[in-house]
Amino acid sequence: MSVEQTVKSYEFKAEVKQLLDILVHSLYTSREIFLRELISNASDALDKIRFETIKGTEVVDKNLPFEITIDFDEKKQLITVTDTGIGMTRDELILNIGTIAKSGSAEFIKKVAESKSDAVNIIGKFGVGFYSVFMAAKEVVIKTKSYLKDEPAVEWKSDGQGGYEISELSEPIKRGTKIEIHLKEDAKEFADKFNLERIIKKHSNFISFPIYINTERINTIVAIWREPKSSLKKEQYDEFYKFLTYESDEPLSVIHNSVDAPIQFHSLLFIPKKNIDFFGFGREDYGLDLYVRKVLIQHKNKDLLPEYLGFVKGVVDSEDLPLNISRETLQENIIFTKIAQSVTTNILSHLLTMAKEESAKYYQFWKEHGKIFKLGYTDFANSEKFMRLLRFNSSFSKNADELISLEDYISRLKDGQKEIYFALGPSREAIELDPHLEVLADKDLEVLYLYDPLDEFVLTSLRKFKDYEFKSVGSVDSKALEKFIDVKKFSEEIEPLSPDDEKHFDSLLIRIKNILSDRVEDVSESKRLRNNPSCLTSKDEGISSTIMKMMRLANKEVPMQKKIFEVNKNHKLIRNLLKIFKMDSKDTFIENVINQLYDSALLLEGNLDDPYKLVSRLNKMLEQSGEWYAELKKL
Ligand code: ADP
Ligand code: MG
Repeated sequence: MSVEQTVKSYEFKAEVKQLLDILVHSLYTSREIFLRELISNASDALDKIRFETIKGTEVVDKNLPFEITIDFDEKKQLITVTDTGIGMTRDELILNIGTIAKSGSAEFIKKVAESKSDAVNIIGKFGVGFYSVFMAAKEVVIKTKSYLKDEPAVEWKSDGQGGYEISELSEPIKRGTKIEIHLKEDAKEFADKFNLERIIKKHSNFISFPIYINTERINTIVAIWREPKSSLKKEQYDEFYKFLTYESDEPLSVIHNSVDAPIQFHSLLFIPKKNIDFFGFGREDYGLDLYVRKVLIQHKNKDLLPEYLGFVKGVVDSEDLPLNISRETLQENIIFTKIAQSVTTNILSHLLTMAKEESAKYYQFWKEHGKIFKLGYTDFANSEKFMRLLRFNSSFSKNADELISLEDYISRLKDGQKEIYFALGPSREAIELDPHLEVLADKDLEVLYLYDPLDEFVLTSLRKFKDYEFKSVGSVDSKALEKFIDVKKFSEEIEPLSPDDEKHFDSLLIRIKNILSDRVEDVSESKRLRNNPSCLTSKDEGISSTIMKMMRLANKEVPMQKKIFEVNKNHKLIRNLLKIFKMDSKDTFIENVINQLYDSALLLEGNLDDPYKLVSRLNKMLEQSGEWYAELKKL
């Protein structure tokens, strides 16, 4: 067979072409990262072969040391990156380096196109890191031999334009992969010892296999998480964090633990400054790297962390797990489960200390990660710690930015107070207009202000903190509030109704009940209102009602829970209605006003389905009042 016959040409898949096109035309400030990507691939390939070896799989060249070698030739403008890793078969080459398989990569490419330079720097996160080599190369040749005995060595060649060629290598090579990078004219500065060393030290210093330039070992530090805390400086942590996460910023906080009993493991964890939900990839990106006695077992293991702590990055290294443990059975391994539990409690304890000793930092944590952290309400085993970590705005806060803990709330309870009150609304201003709050404000009772429907869901699910039940202001029993004395006076004193008018008021309530009929559960006189004429309340706003609200927010059709319509007989508007009612108990004006009040209450709750009726009724009333006003003016 002649050489020509064994060479086969392939086209890159469309999204690869698109990506290559972007990379070639990118800003070049960060193009040195191509070397980081190739070294990281070499390291992955070495992790894989080590894993196979430990499992006892038969591999070729099994005595080759696990290492990465970089050579360069200034004259030829050539760099080679060689590893003794797992290698690739012909099919794997086509699959891995010709197509983009990982989900989400297409979206990444779209985003890269929009915001070039920054995104190029994090390219390795999205399973497309290899292609970054074409920022510096005019041609790339891959020579690779799979660890599988019967697979021939193959060569892949491309100029990064439209496609690539694959042929079988006639000369045998050892297991692993060699990548030849023929540099572009304007990238020839990379074929230089000093430059290569600088780049490797900067981006790849923590790779756990030796990296050589020619024969000189470049990287030094390994397994930093096993070093004693006292011997490590902040800079080393920062550097490792950047290596691990592709972040350019330092972490907000470092959690470094070596646990001895009951199981032995080391963990080095980081809380990022920013919620790295980059392009919405956060979910795929979460997890901790799991090592067993310094050997990487799994990248981004998702079972070491509950989802609500998914913002935490880092590594866990176990002393006790068997090296040849399969990833599939990890979850059922009791040692693994214990490590995972311990990791969670360590993080929560760390956060508690942070909250106590570094409140500004904790505030920053809450602002960035609080939204995800809140999902931890389902972690029953840790609910005590979890609840102490929650933060809320409250009626006692100076402004919308000031947050309090549930412990703060408890420390300010009024005598005999058994409930923790909360109100939900889109903003502080909006909540402060909530009629249900009036009576609580009069009695100086603190109310948590929730701006996120999820908060209400969290509180109703948790039910209580210590012995204090969470209670929505809409379902507070106003009779039970009578035991608290009024501290503030909201409204000026109002002349009480005469005994005769009291009777008329009772009849008016019946009339109102007829008007609202089956839209409400009941109509009653309000004890909680001051400056508002009416409101809707419920006896018990249980979890179902919150779920319904969430569903309604998600545009699902759900039946409305019937509520109690409370009427404030001391309000001017209701007094006026009473006057009209006494003159003509059937007057349709009463009906219009009551319907309007009811719809307004629904609107405030976010439960008004049909705004058109409300608006047209309102317009009609404005029209009428305009007429009356004009008449009055004439007089
Ligand atoms: P990622 O590393 O995130 O998977 P890359 O674009 O960097 O994405 O690499 C794509 C794939 O190509 C890798 O997943 C791997 O299967 C294969 N690959 C790249 N370099 C090597 C190598 N040196 N040895 C073995 N396989 C490699
Ligand atoms: Mg890679």
